[in-house]
Amino acid sequence: MVRVRVEALEEYAKAHNVPIMLPDGIAFLTDYMKEHQIKNVLEIGSAIGYSAIKMALVDPQVHVTTIERDQERYNLACQNIRAFGLENQITIFHADAFDVELTKQYDLIFIDAAKSQYIKFFEKFKKNLKEDGTIISDNLEFHGLVHTKEKIESRNVRQLVRKINAYITFLEENEEFTTTFFPIGDGIGISQRKKQS
Ligand code: SAM
Repeated sequence: MVRVRVEALEEYAKAHNVPIMLPDGIAFLTDYMKEHQIKNVLEIGSAIGYSAIKMALVDPQVHVTTIERDQERYNLACQNIRAFGLENQITIFHADAFDVELTKQYDLIFIDAAKSQYIKFFEKFKKNLKEDGTIISDNLEFHGLVHTKEKIESRNVRQLVRKINAYITFLEENEEFTTTFFPIGDGIGISQRKKQS
């Protein structure tokens, strides 16, 4: 087993433009897991395995299932998971999340993949969330662009911002889930099922 430091993953991501969670975002996520005794996590979007590794390191009883569609990132994630000796705590699938059918129920579902598909990820995987579980979504501020008053030049970025805004509205108006938004990292949403009265 090769010993690596998480800082090495952060440096790799920076050098190779791999979008991983920002430091305060990942600290918020792992603190949330500790505070709520989260043991089973489903992550959509592994990239190089950074957030899955950080979550698995919270506690030896934590298990993370994570999905990555990009071959190169999946290979690197597998390599990193092995280097940390976390093969027993992290199950990684090389697939498009929309092709993955899971029957297990999770305490936490972390959505951190294609921003344009967030509503679809939420709708597809909510059946895998335990009754009192939590769905956490990252990048809801999208580098500050979601709240900017300035005109966004790039058409692609404008479209993404529109999609993220549509997701925020979807969460705000959701009849099944209540969401709290936190201006932490790149913007985090915490969604939980409404209690039946
Ligand atoms: N969670 C990672 C972290 O913080 O270390 C970062 C994930 S990165 C923001 C998003 C990843 O989601 C990319 O590597 C991308 O290839 C992957 N992705 C996007 N859409 C996907 C899909 N439909 N199924 C699986 N992976 C997807």
